[in-house]
Amino acid sequence: MGQTLRIIITSMLGLILVFSCATIPKPAPEGPLKGLTITLDPGHGDTEAYDDFRVGPAGDREEWINLKVAKKLQKLLLHQGAQVVMTRTDNRDVNLGGRASVAIKNDSDFFVSIHHNGSVNDTTLDYPLVYIWGDARRNPASVDLAQSILNSVEQNLAFETPIGAGVYSDFLIYSAGTAVLRNTYPRIPGIIGEMGFFTNAAGEQRMRDDEALTLEAEGYLAGILAYTKRGIPKAELLKPVGDDYLRPESSEIIFRLTDGLGGHAFDVNSLLVLVNDDTIPHQWDKKSGVLTVTPPRCSHETIQVQVFGRNELGNALHPREWDLLTMIGKEKRWQGPWHAAFGRADSLRGLLNPGDSNFVVQLDATIYWYEQALRLQPVNPRAAEAEFRLGEMHVLKLDWLGDESARGKAVTYFDRVIGYYPTSNFVKSARDELFMLERVF
Ligand SMILES: [Zn+2]
Repeated sequence: MGQTLRIIITSMLGLILVFSCATIPKPAPEGPLKGLTITLDPGHGDTEAYDDFRVGPAGDREEWINLKVAKKLQKLLLHQGAQVVMTRTDNRDVNLGGRASVAIKNDSDFFVSIHHNGSVNDTTLDYPLVYIWGDARRNPASVDLAQSILNSVEQNLAFETPIGAGVYSDFLIYSAGTAVLRNTYPRIPGIIGEMGFFTNAAGEQRMRDDEALTLEAEGYLAGILAYTKRGIPKAELLKPVGDDYLRPESSEIIFRLTDGLGGHAFDVNSLLVLVNDDTIPHQWDKKSGVLTVTPPRCSHETIQVQVFGRNELGNALHPREWDLLTMIGKEKRWQGPWHAAFGRADSLRGLLNPGDSNFVVQLDATIYWYEQALRLQPVNPRAAEAEFRLGEMHVLKLDWLGDESARGKAVTYFDRVIGYYPTSNFVKSARDELFMLERVF
């Protein structure tokens, strides 16, 4: 009995241990980073089987170094009260889309990808650089963060060729930029830190030195602290929200801006609103932080809006991409069930009368709803019937309106019924209709 109890207790302890290992480390209850969520992304992982580039002369692999620094930084950030999300915590690879998704899903305030650089044709190079996505003018918050981190890391570590240090666009290495930064940009600021070259012997030695890696992580921390101290401005969309869309009668878009310092203090001259990449005029209420724009009428299904601005301490608002539905888009995206569309088509068909003054309109509406039912659910229990009726509707167009272009469409629909629904009850009728249509000639 005592033995059994001990086994039960031991196995329960084992379970508790397993669970506590799996939990995410908690941030300190107080600290300057309290309330912030930061995603750390240790670059690469598990590449040794196929990648012989990502390794220094003494055999240290970039992905191992990245992970060491990220883990040190994770601890430091937690200690300052930040919530930290890691894209990986061991030597495994995570796909690039997955890394960005983790950052966005966790509602991170920003994304920091930790890398180290390599050069095959110049092993003398050893300097820190930070990548941002795309054109710096369109990505100002990421530049602020990148610059701040770069400055602090440079203060903490000695590089062999510091002259190259700087913030660079990732368009310099890939024409569409890096996947992680391209995919985080629509929502949050993001950077890739490349703190020195592992292909340089001295650089690699520094990366093998635990104390230097601690200094590197502390450099990141100091940069993040300096950046966040200036406030992280945010824009909240107040209208349209949820299922709402830009109505033609009142198409104004309303944001509320906060400066990240507890108020709405922005440099008025820095405020700028882009709609589909064009600047449009805005109204700014500095007391409430409410920013209002009225986009010009357009025939797009959505419009993209970005808001730019800097708070009074100089930190930029991240120009998150807001894709807003227009009335045209709203109508096109009507997503009822297919059978509702089919039902609408069927009842309209029942009312069709060639003598009515609105016969043409009703006929077109009937066609529209049968097509809609097929669009919503291409293979549905009444799909063959919908296609047969569409054939019939085009025969009506041909017979009553003399619309010759309807003949080809009718033939197509009847032909589809025979070819695509071989067991349907409508095959025989479709054959008869085709026979009739082709006898006309
Ligand atoms: Zn890398």
